[in-house]
Amino acid sequence: MKILVLNCGSSSLKYQLIDMENEAVLCIGLVERIGIEGSILTQKKDGVEGKYVKEQPMKDHQDAIKLVLEGVLDSTYGGVKDMAEIDAVGHRVVHGGEKFASSVIITEEVEEAMRKCSELAPLHNPANLMGIDAIKAVLPGVPNVGVFDTAFHQTMPASSYLYGLPHRLYTEYGVRRYGFHGTSHKYVSQRAAAMLGKDIADLKIITCHLGNGASIAAVDGGKVVDTSMGLTPLEGLIMGTRCGDIDPAIIPFIMKKENLDADGVDKLMNKESGVYGMTGISSDFRDISTAAAEGNQKAIDALDAYHKRVKKYIGAYAAEMNGVDAIVFTAGLGENGIEDRLAIASNLEVLGVKMDAEANNVRGKETVISAADSKVKVLLIPTNEELMIARDTLELVK
Ligand code: ADP
Repeated sequence: MKILVLNCGSSSLKYQLIDMENEAVLCIGLVERIGIEGSILTQKKDGVEGKYVKEQPMKDHQDAIKLVLEGVLDSTYGGVKDMAEIDAVGHRVVHGGEKFASSVIITEEVEEAMRKCSELAPLHNPANLMGIDAIKAVLPGVPNVGVFDTAFHQTMPASSYLYGLPHRLYTEYGVRRYGFHGTSHKYVSQRAAAMLGKDIADLKIITCHLGNGASIAAVDGGKVVDTSMGLTPLEGLIMGTRCGDIDPAIIPFIMKKENLDADGVDKLMNKESGVYGMTGISSDFRDISTAAAEGNQKAIDALDAYHKRVKKYIGAYAAEMNGVDAIVFTAGLGENGIEDRLAIASNLEVLGVKMDAEANNVRGKETVISAADSKVKVLLIPTNEELMIARDTLELVK
């Protein structure tokens, strides 16, 4: 069975074609600038030199998906000879609200529910829906599956998802913690159990997804009991351009001081903050690390604050679960930030964490990075959200 995995953004689209016989990626691609000038599709195939590039106007997602299908049919860079070989399409959907605690086959009713969740994810869900509509038009009859970023977190108890706000805001508008990156947290927590040779039901795991967007989850017995992102992906850790946790009173304060409306302050917190806003240098942690190494004080402070925030959540989640057996690092910074992992794990000896500096001196490889006598195992696990989406899709359509 061959499954196409789609991750649609408002003007971009990432895709992978996966052969579920052996979970091999047949080809992988990216479409950028959909609906704007300079639309471009690039696709690669493992083991084949060069890449497949299509530069032509794409006015919408349907145009883009038509070109994606041409790409996957390409005799050199593609993965199928005939469109009929694509058995199902798995879609990443950002917000499933409280409606979706697991992946589902997409029906009219599901699409309607996704539309309702759009209010909670106005930047993401509409793009995900455009991708679904485009596939329905171009590949009629092929089943579509929705895999939600929020779903894995739906096991959280009310004590984790309720805010200290009037209860009616929850019942009337759905204001609660939902959490994001669920597909990644699920994948790495399951891999962690496999790597440790234990049943996930017997493990307390803290998963740190540290990418451009970043979140942490406490996974007790395979179920999320708490996570750092909230109603939206703004809460929690300091991120590339997002502020994470702040005193909520800062919002009306800066709105008055800088004469900002709701959209203005939202933009400031989502796009102009994080390590980018703290340093004025970049949202990319590589640039921040370089600047810090050169003695830039703002970069040094931003990195220290970033590491401390992650450490704080690890401590909090260990307390919430009454212990921790494993801590997992994943996503861009988690997989590559050698110094960052050491800085975060320092002073966690109190929990039983002891790093092995040499074992930690790796990037992007599934491996144990704690010392042999560390009570808490620290693991580096590259995330694979696409494979997780493909597995869920297979499970539902087979
Ligand atoms: P997203 O999917 O959220 O866009 P990624 O998981 O790809 O993010 O992570 C991207 C981030 O990972 C980059 O912003 C960069 O800061 C960080 N990163 C990537 N490689 C390295 C590296 N070698 N050292 C430190 N940080 C890195």
